[in-house]
Amino acid sequence: MADQFEAEVIAAFGRHLCVRAGDEELRARPSGRRLSIVCGDRVRCEVDRKHNDVLIVEVLPRRTLLARANTRGDSEPVVANITQLVVVVPPLPRPDLFVVDRYLCAATAAGIRGTLAINKSDLEVDPELDREFSALNSAGYARASCSARQGHGLDALRGLLGGAVSVLVGQSGVGKSSLVRALLPGAEVITGELMRDDEGRHTTTASRAYQVEPLAGSAGGTLIDSPGVRDFAPAIDHLDAQTLGFPEIDARSPGCRFQDCKHLQEPGCAVIAAVATREMSARRYESYRRLRRLYTDLVEARGPGQRKRR
Ligand code: GDP
Ligand code: ZN
Repeated sequence: MADQFEAEVIAAFGRHLCVRAGDEELRARPSGRRLSIVCGDRVRCEVDRKHNDVLIVEVLPRRTLLARANTRGDSEPVVANITQLVVVVPPLPRPDLFVVDRYLCAATAAGIRGTLAINKSDLEVDPELDREFSALNSAGYARASCSARQGHGLDALRGLLGGAVSVLVGQSGVGKSSLVRALLPGAEVITGELMRDDEGRHTTTASRAYQVEPLAGSAGGTLIDSPGVRDFAPAIDHLDAQTLGFPEIDARSPGCRFQDCKHLQEPGCAVIAAVATREMSARRYESYRRLRRLYTDLVEARGPGQRKRR
């Protein structure tokens, strides 16, 4: 193998990394403290012959980056170069749709497609909740209904994963691990083997990219799974200041009287008008207002130039 080569990070556990170059999978580590590397990164590596080691010397520009808010409210990179964020929601336990909206907005802000996996389709969906799922669907998010437990709808979900690099997210208990097990038999075993810490213990905080079996006649997909990011809180400061990532607001804001309309109480607001005529979901609009308040408190309160580094 050449002394320098490009590779893709397919597993990460802190500074323990695994890269793929061609057909080869190698353990690697960052060459310096300052390099922040996440699963999905494209990197330049160097072979350290003396220590029989692979060093990552550079992270290539990321096409997308998903960030989470850590406990101090700073944003931290979670996963790079994904093209799709699959938000898993079940009918029960009753989902917090504001959390669902936040994930979808985070996806939009990062230039990533947001998609819904409505899991536990073996349970009855309350009609009001079903209307909210439909509202999300008409706002522009594709959806698939599935049941990890019964194995229903998994092909529809595979269809949505085809040709994309995806991450499954959602609140605890929605069935993410069950879906990963259903989609990727043996996945947890592989992660365990690759990602042991220095004492040889298995770790549960590793992220790992898996190939999802293609459906007949279509492309397979990549699914990056990480128990640690499955229910992360998306970073708010990456949101688009104007629309916060609501596609149905984005579509209507050109009709607002004021170009910088925040759609709160401005006269001539096309968004408020659409809520009044029920063309836009009142719940989604309420979610927008709530996220707007969070955004104002977090981002605008810092003032110009105070915006935290990404
Ligand atoms: P996670 O916290 O999102 O990873 O959720 P888990 O995969 O651990 O699942 C949480 C609970 O939901 C478990 O008791 C699962 O057995 C159950 N569950 C997962 N998928 C389904 C499903 O399709 N139908 C039903 N009824 N239960 C499910
Ligand atoms: Zn407006």
